Amino acid sequence: MRIHVATSNSGKLREFQQAAAQLGYGEIEISPLLLPKGEVPPEEHGDTFGENAAIKARHYSRFTSEMVFADDSGLEVDALGGAPGIHSARYAGEGAGDAANNALLLERMVGIEQRSARFVCAIAVAQAGEVLAIFRGAIEGALLEAPRGERGFGYDPLFYYPPLARSTAELQPEEKIQVSHRGQALKQMLGWLHARE
Ligand code: IMP
Repeated sequence: MRIHVATSNSGKLREFQQAAAQLGYGEIEISPLLLPKGEVPPEEHGDTFGENAAIKARHYSRFTSEMVFADDSGLEVDALGGAPGIHSARYAGEGAGDAANNALLLERMVGIEQRSARFVCAIAVAQAGEVLAIFRGAIEGALLEAPRGERGFGYDPLFYYPPLARSTAELQPEEKIQVSHRGQALKQMLGWLHARE
């Protein structure tokens, strides 16, 4: 059985592709959706991760007759009122990369003791322009004061996960997917797909 994933984020694509087997659903193949050249991504105008995931899944399901899923995810920092939240990818501005986003986050957190934060993920599945289901996951942690670890992507080097006493950039990919926001949402989606077979 196959489902397409619509993402241009290579870090996420890598995690998704390795995930099905690691989460015990090796029979489900997750393949990247091939898009026509010059295809313009939809505007993510939703107010929540779920709304934005649904916008993307609905949009990209027009490019295949098979099921497509899209995710929207980000980091919520309690001391910053939930920022960067749905703006996580562009926190330091349009086109800013992970390094600039992480530097800005560290700067905003200087001197703040309350460092609780969570990664949140919503995955929407769509087919032929219709959203069939939405799944959500979250992982609680705390912001570090300096980066730790080389793996993962995005804010991983700044996100400390207490149960494993490491940052998510210090986890092996197979460890991260078992506990992460994305892994939790994905596990639910894979179970749902499996039950439809
Ligand atoms: P999206 O592509 O609009 O969902 O943006 C997600 C952004 O949130 C990424 O670019 C990262 O900055 C951040 N993010 C989401 N999930 C993770 C993760 O697992 N590790 C680190 N950063 C993440």
